[in-house]
Amino acid sequence: MPHAGSFAFFTVAVCMLAAASSVSAQSPVQLKYTRVVDLTLPIESNMPGIPGLKSYAENPSSVTVIAAITEAQKELLRAEGMTLSNNLAVNGRSMISILSILVHNGTHIDAPRHMIDKGRPVDQVPLEQVAKEAVLIDLPNKGPNSTVSVKDILDTGVEFGPNLIPVIHTGWTEKTWGKPEFWEQMPYLEAGVGELMAKKNVSAVAMDVFPEKAIWRGVKLDPGEVWVANHLALLEKGIPMIQFVTNLSQIGKGRFVLIAAPLRIKGGDASPARVIALAE
Ligand SMILES: [Zn+2]
Repeated sequence: MPHAGSFAFFTVAVCMLAAASSVSAQSPVQLKYTRVVDLTLPIESNMPGIPGLKSYAENPSSVTVIAAITEAQKELLRAEGMTLSNNLAVNGRSMISILSILVHNGTHIDAPRHMIDKGRPVDQVPLEQVAKEAVLIDLPNKGPNSTVSVKDILDTGVEFGPNLIPVIHTGWTEKTWGKPEFWEQMPYLEAGVGELMAKKNVSAVAMDVFPEKAIWRGVKLDPGEVWVANHLALLEKGIPMIQFVTNLSQIGKGRFVLIAAPLRIKGGDASPARVIALAE
């Protein structure tokens, strides 16, 4: 809950330090916020990936504990459902774990390199593109097996453009993550949505549904259709895709500041990200 009277002010990168290469100026946006909303899915062992895709099936996520402080801690971790290494050492000193994850699992950011051979890797995505003023595009009627079209987005009347991150909000990830229907009945973006966003020159795009046709459940491509059309339209223009954000219902009305910080994986195609909203 917000603490009464604890308004904080957040100024998005009003920066005159042009000489510093890791810092860039952008148009100043001052928003007051009282709440920090976590839009991130938890990272854990065996997160569900796209059904039928070998790369996910063969590379399940894991958070594996290789050392625990005491036997009691080891048993606590076991009770919590943590994955314990067969070689787990109880060392009297420290708990240590190993994270292994296909970088598109859960809440993550696609960098241009994911689909564009000469595109930017994730460590070179400018942070000012993913720490920005944002606006929700609310599509509350998009239930199981639905699609989100260009028309759906335009019909909301929500305006978006440069220096803004539109956030496509159906509620799907928030309602179904961890249940079989998450993938089985996933709504998706129709081809053309990426192009629309790219034409509007947005800073990044965030969403809580899959960005392409749900071919894993037998949805057919049209003749000549490219499966990853939305990825291509966005990533070609250097627009990062922030995927599978959750808890969007907690943001409320109005604009907010979205911060989506990928791990700085050198040369990487994508990264898990901690995504937060600073909201009034
Ligand atoms: Zn991805």
